[in-house]
Amino acid sequence: MSEQPALQLPTSEDLISQIQFAYEDGKIWLDEQRMLLIHSAVMGSLRKELVSSLGLERARGFLMRFGYQSGMKDAEFAHKIRPDISTADAFLVGPQMHCLKGMVRVDPIALEFDVEKGEFYGEFDWYDSYESEVHINEFGIAEEPICWTLLGYASGFTSYYMGRKIIFKETQCSGTGHDHCHIVGKPAEEWEDQEELERCLLPDPIVEELFALRYEISTLRENLIDMRVPTDSQLFNSVGQSPAFQHVCHLIQRASSSTVTVLLQGETGVGKEVVARGLHQTSERAEQPFIAVNCACIPPDLIEAELFGVRKGAYTGATQSREGKFERAHGGTIFLDEVVELSPRAQAALLRVLQEGEMERVGDNQLRKIDVRVVAATNEDLAEAVQKGKFRQDLFYRLNVYPVQIPPLRERLEDIPLLIEHFLEKYHNMYNKHTLGVSDKAMQALIKYKWPGNIRELENMIERGIILTDNNRSIDMKSFFPSLAEPSHPLNVASGTGELCTKSQTTSSGEDLVDQLLNENFDLNNFEQQLLDRAMQKASGNVTQAARLLGITRPQMAYRLKK
Ligand SMILES: [Zn+2]
Repeated sequence: MSEQPALQLPTSEDLISQIQFAYEDGKIWLDEQRMLLIHSAVMGSLRKELVSSLGLERARGFLMRFGYQSGMKDAEFAHKIRPDISTADAFLVGPQMHCLKGMVRVDPIALEFDVEKGEFYGEFDWYDSYESEVHINEFGIAEEPICWTLLGYASGFTSYYMGRKIIFKETQCSGTGHDHCHIVGKPAEEWEDQEELERCLLPDPIVEELFALRYEISTLRENLIDMRVPTDSQLFNSVGQSPAFQHVCHLIQRASSSTVTVLLQGETGVGKEVVARGLHQTSERAEQPFIAVNCACIPPDLIEAELFGVRKGAYTGATQSREGKFERAHGGTIFLDEVVELSPRAQAALLRVLQEGEMERVGDNQLRKIDVRVVAATNEDLAEAVQKGKFRQDLFYRLNVYPVQIPPLRERLEDIPLLIEHFLEKYHNMYNKHTLGVSDKAMQALIKYKWPGNIRELENMIERGIILTDNNRSIDMKSFFPSLAEPSHPLNVASGTGELCTKSQTTSSGEDLVDQLLNENFDLNNFEQQLLDRAMQKASGNVTQAARLLGITRPQMAYRLKK
């Protein structure tokens, strides 16, 4: 029983009567559904954000599904308000709701449907689509029809209404510069591009793609890290003017010509691996592998297998034989960071490598000759670990043949500008950015800082500074010390102890004052002027006396006053 198309919309009184503004409750009702009044311009902003974060295709799908859900809700409402769904009047609840919600004015052109037989054909003209308006406002005239939520609504409404998938297509759109939009709807399988149309209406989880991308990025990042290794060896070779670091370089260069086992000592983050790499690269083994192992990062019961390899079946989980780090470092250098963390069995095996130059894989009897230069490192006192029974004494003696103490950053403050230069270059390249470097005030703060995390902390800070700073801008204090305002921030408490500025003769309270000044918008010239004025006032205009108050000579005072 086909309905004759009613080309006039019926009266909307019955629909309007279902709208209730329960504003005292903060609610708007349509029958029993809670509705919202939303600015259409806000829908425009949402659309813009969706397009810029998801891309046009995904944003289109998202907005179509958004409209689709809304259409289904209204079809449910249509069934309720005009229960004889075989009539065109009942179907026209959809177009009427579109008008009522202020989204678009709908003129029915053709409508034929039979719910029981599942036949449907509809054509409508849309005037003054809100969606065209916001789209043009945000993006300008479009090349393709863009009334996505409206189209989704029509498809959702009709599909729910008909109990089968009906898809509408926009054959012309005011968003592309036409006077009005025109849509045609028919069952999904009657469209040639059914698949593509239906795909838009399918949920499209972006999560998996994000995972794939994240994996790709981590691979790229690893490659980058590989690429930047040479730069870090430059760091060892060139960065360090301070006598403390020069001394380290000297020791390392002498060690590199022999095969002596080297023990690097120093706080966390002082760059022990960089030094070990530098040692390797200046040695005759430079062309051979350099393998770095952080013993603290491997569970104690796995460390022996990790270092010396394992025979298949040696323990549950050893599903196949594999070589360990020592075999991989054969001919080259192995760097054992946090060596104090080695399990007793691993300590015994390491001692054997150092004494006999041989090893066995875990669970294997085959003796393997091994030629590896060992560079060990620790930030704990190994002698103390020996006393506590945590570390073998004989191994300690073997490792401690050639100890090198790497100074903490606070003992080589002269190197900070060079290190900063180095990390700026590294991270400018990595992030393809170019800042103007560190602002003068920030540089002062960096040199004053206590650096509990040493070079690693400096490196992290520079990386963060570059990320936070726009191109062609200087990296300012805030980028380095975001919570500077907090009194507990290390910069604010650090220099109070007087450990930092060894050259400074100021008292700790004087340093507090300096810190405080630097945290505000400090202006050196202005401050100096105020000091001079104040001193002259106190000295009743006597220059010599004022100079004495400021701890400078009379000519210096006179020069400054003239300036
Ligand atoms: Zn349109």
